[in-house]
Amino acid sequence: MREIVHVQAGQCGNQIGSKFWEIISDEHGVDPSGYSNGENPLQQERINVYYNEASSGKYVPRAVLVDLEPGTMDAVRSGPYGQLFRPDNFVFGQSGAGIEARVLDPFTVKPLDNVAVLQHARAVGGHVVVVEDHYQAEGAELVDSVLDVIRKEAEGCDCLQGFQLTHSLGGGTGSGLGTLLLSKIREEYPDRIMNTFSVVPSPKVSEVVLEPYNATLSVHQLVENTDMTFCIDNEALYNICFRTLRLASPSYGDLNHLISLTMSGVTTCLRFPGQLNADLRKLAVNMVPFPRLHFFMPGFAPLTARNAFNYRAQTVPELMSQMFNPGNMMTASDPRHGRYLTVATMFRGQMSMREVDDQILAIQNKNSSYFVEWIPNNLKVSVCDVPPRGLKMSATFIGNSTAIQEIFKRISEQFTAMFRRRVS
Ligand code: GDP
Repeated sequence: MREIVHVQAGQCGNQIGSKFWEIISDEHGVDPSGYSNGENPLQQERINVYYNEASSGKYVPRAVLVDLEPGTMDAVRSGPYGQLFRPDNFVFGQSGAGIEARVLDPFTVKPLDNVAVLQHARAVGGHVVVVEDHYQAEGAELVDSVLDVIRKEAEGCDCLQGFQLTHSLGGGTGSGLGTLLLSKIREEYPDRIMNTFSVVPSPKVSEVVLEPYNATLSVHQLVENTDMTFCIDNEALYNICFRTLRLASPSYGDLNHLISLTMSGVTTCLRFPGQLNADLRKLAVNMVPFPRLHFFMPGFAPLTARNAFNYRAQTVPELMSQMFNPGNMMTASDPRHGRYLTVATMFRGQMSMREVDDQILAIQNKNSSYFVEWIPNNLKVSVCDVPPRGLKMSATFIGNSTAIQEIFKRISEQFTAMFRRRVS
């Protein structure tokens, strides 16, 4: 048994995390009360990677839910799968009214005083700025309680493989407290794998102008303290909803649907039996040639809107070309502007392995200039028989491309534009 401990922090982290548990519970035949109704033995075989089995036979997510205020977690608890989670694993503060709105000076990393914040607000164009602290201070109090719960989960494991965190980079809690937790967990479990699903802010989705500050501060932490980070970019999700799915004003529900497809896809190899990338360490070894270059561009095909079922038979070549299409990437970076260091793909559904292998070879030959030549066989493919709900076949993409720098450039430009205009 190789277990993963899941942590979700902040509003976004809790929303996408809960969606992830809904989707995988459905895929593994776990009903909202935690009992198994699965018929396929494949659903059960590796269920303990993500779930603990209670003595009553109930499956309980190995998940820790964290926030500095109770709102989002109350919503999770009263949601469809709210009863699935272990009640003691909800760890939250009551800060709602108490916390002062503060912003850190990105260079000194000291809180700006109120006058400076107001000057800053004026400098960035008179927006009314909802300023959020990069919660290292308030979060510090909660961290010990969170670590207690994480430790308890880790101690219950037979052979812990590592951790995964869902959070946003633009807010306060998921970004500040989330990265603080990462460094604490790393300190305590230095030889376990740390994986994050990190939501990158975009002005198309959120107008809080200070998000690039928070994102910059937290990327700095991710470089040092994670082994793998899936960059889920709200800008790319918005573009997919708007351009491909033709949704005039995409909601978080629409964006989160795409995220849940992707998270289910990239964790398929960890959750179902198979040979390739079967645990976090193997995935990291295959995907990360240099420790700091671990920011992945995920992708998915076929793209479908929420509640839209796509029973149209997809073919392997169609999925293959959609999957490599820049418009299907969940990161707003164009892979044609860089080169792939490594790529892992996962096909789900009933298909011929031979056809998949042939297609992969063809793609790699046709696009050889987009793959670095000094890592041979840097495109890996795996197949899982069980398709996601509502699809006959699907394909998930994980790319480690040098083009990822485009999102860091975007954030950095937004950061600089604000910082330059700050009245000193
Ligand atoms: P926190 O609770 O302090 O961690 O703050 P949030 O998680 O609300 O962080 C704000 C950032 O997260 C902004 O960039 C939002 O666009 C993004 N965000 C918040 N909720 C969601 C969500 O449910 N889905 C997605 N995709 N992004 C979200």
